[in-house]
Amino acid sequence: MDNVLVLNADLGPLHWVSLKHAVCMLFREVAVVHEAEPDRLFGIYPKPRILRLVRYVDTRWRHTSGPSWSRSGVLVRDGRMCGYCGDPATSVDHIVPRSRGGGNTWTNTVAACQRCNQRKGDRTPAEAGMRLRTRPVAPTWAAMAKRRFARLAQSAYVG
Ligand SMILES: [Zn+2]
Repeated sequence: MDNVLVLNADLGPLHWVSLKHAVCMLFREVAVVHEAEPDRLFGIYPKPRILRLVRYVDTRWRHTSGPSWSRSGVLVRDGRMCGYCGDPATSVDHIVPRSRGGGNTWTNTVAACQRCNQRKGDRTPAEAGMRLRTRPVAPTWAAMAKRRFARLAQSAYVG
């Protein structure tokens, strides 16, 4: 149900979001209603058709290939879920251990809980008898932005 268009602060169109997400953005005051449906209310707001971000978001990233690797990025990509058991993850595991030449790359790292990370140690998943639940991939900027957005939206509801 992606039916509200989000504009950048300079009025450049960014993406579509659901009405629920749009209301969440209004609630968090990161966006204002740019265009609403006349005489239709959604809660206390006029039912928005187009939102405008309060602060300009740099979109140069749209023209680069993707975000560069980082530990926090791996956790975001994997939704902070352990790639081995699905528990909440707080660390990043190198699938081919660093000590054996495995690099800091998107495809060689996965979010992991402390327990799995320790259990695996300096071994490959096969050696440790552990199976990855998904095959790690290099995320696109859009996917990462969506992940971060989802978390922000969640925290807004909880908070
Ligand atoms: Zn785990």
